[in-house]
Amino acid sequence: MQQEVIIVGGGMVGLSLALMLAKKKIAVKLLEAIKYPNYDDEHLAPYHSSFDARNSALSRRSVQIYQELGLWDALQQYATPILEVNITEQGSFGKARLIAAQEKVESFGQVIENAWLGRVLLSEVKKQPLIELIDGVKVTSLKQDADFAYIEAESNQQKYQLQSKLLIAADGRDSFCRKALGIGASEHDYDQVAIVTSVQTSKPHQQVGFERFSPLGPLALLPLPGEYRRSVVWPVPKGTEHEWLGEENDQHFLDALQETYGDRAGKFQKTGRRFSFPLSQVLAEKQAIGRVVLMGNAAHTIHPVAGQGFNLCMRDAYVLVRYLSEQLEQAADLGDAAMLKDYEKSRLTDQQRVIKFCDSVVRGFSNQNPILKLIRNTGLMAFENIPGIKPLVANYAMGLKA
Ligand SMILES: Cc1cc2nc3c(=O)[nH]c(=O)nc-3n(C[C@H](O)[C@H](O)[C@H](O)COP(=O)(O)OP(=O)(O)OC[C@H]3O[C@@H](n4cnc5c(N)ncnc54)[C@H](O)[C@@H]3O)c2cc1C
Repeated sequence: MQQEVIIVGGGMVGLSLALMLAKKKIAVKLLEAIKYPNYDDEHLAPYHSSFDARNSALSRRSVQIYQELGLWDALQQYATPILEVNITEQGSFGKARLIAAQEKVESFGQVIENAWLGRVLLSEVKKQPLIELIDGVKVTSLKQDADFAYIEAESNQQKYQLQSKLLIAADGRDSFCRKALGIGASEHDYDQVAIVTSVQTSKPHQQVGFERFSPLGPLALLPLPGEYRRSVVWPVPKGTEHEWLGEENDQHFLDALQETYGDRAGKFQKTGRRFSFPLSQVLAEKQAIGRVVLMGNAAHTIHPVAGQGFNLCMRDAYVLVRYLSEQLEQAADLGDAAMLKDYEKSRLTDQQRVIKFCDSVVRGFSNQNPILKLIRNTGLMAFENIPGIKPLVANYAMGLKA
């Protein structure tokens, strides 16, 4: 009998994972709490928790995975390559530059609009005969025994009772499944919210991305399709978001960008609507227990400072699918607890490196003490001048070295 996998959560991770599994001939039932917008109806806002106003920097490895899935042709219509990354700190002279051509790669990755990524993933999932998508359905109970994982779920009209050999919980930072299984999580609130939007500048971006550390928070400016459009992710202190959100603050926001960023991008001319996202680090104490494995933000939610969160999830998903397809080839149990533990163990080094890196960048650059600023400056200069560091960092950032 064909073994079916249940995925709870159809965000960017759940949908991508379902497609990876289907490609390996593994059948999936995917349950998502929110009703997806009908993308055929242009009047409906394309809003979904994962596929909002954000843009994601996809590493080269994530792009390769979408290429393997045959999705890159569709995705790249609204993606922009990153050819160079500049890292600076406001009020300091140090500067680090990573140039794709010098590292002998076409680009470090691609920036894609989440709304477009969501549309492409969803339409592909709907075409896949091996994926049964049930949206507008919230999982309300999860239990397991030696043979199966069991869930109960409900929509406005219907109740569901389902069981499977393997349950993958990709239900986000506040994961219901993680809590239902009694898996603890360490949480650190960064006391920041990310202000996210797109802006138009008078100078073209030339596919250069910028990370500028400012007293307010680390400002990321990434190139978007259209020569003059850039994506903004700006973590600011929690409680100050009202200063930046709302149409009435458009000019104030543009002025703050200009002051922080200087004239490298020319004039900040227009801003889109701003959205805010609370920032915290949430790390599950276990990622595999019995027949259940946690994926995506349910397993590890990290600060977006270096655009690594989703890329890390994609690498996790890719490895999990490799383990599962080996099980399938041997007609073995897809929910085998020992195999899931092996998967978890195999991912810890990559996960801990990314988690530590992002956390230490946020903490390291948030202190305005002049001595620490000097050390950071020296660090940026060392990065620029010590041979061998750049290729190493570039490989990690591209997700090519795990
Ligand atoms: C401002 C910002 C910028 C970022 N930029 C980048 C970037 O440039 N590059 C990068 O790699 N990463 C980036 N990230 C990280 C990235 O967004 C996350 O890693 C990614 O969204 C995780 O997706 P997910 O599917 O695990 O979780 P989610 O997007 O939270 O999806 C979880 C899904 O589960 C569903 N769900 C929840 N509970 C239930 C339930 N009980 N029953 C059924 N369904 C349920 C939800 O409705 C949701 O659709 C950024 C994050 C932020 C905040």
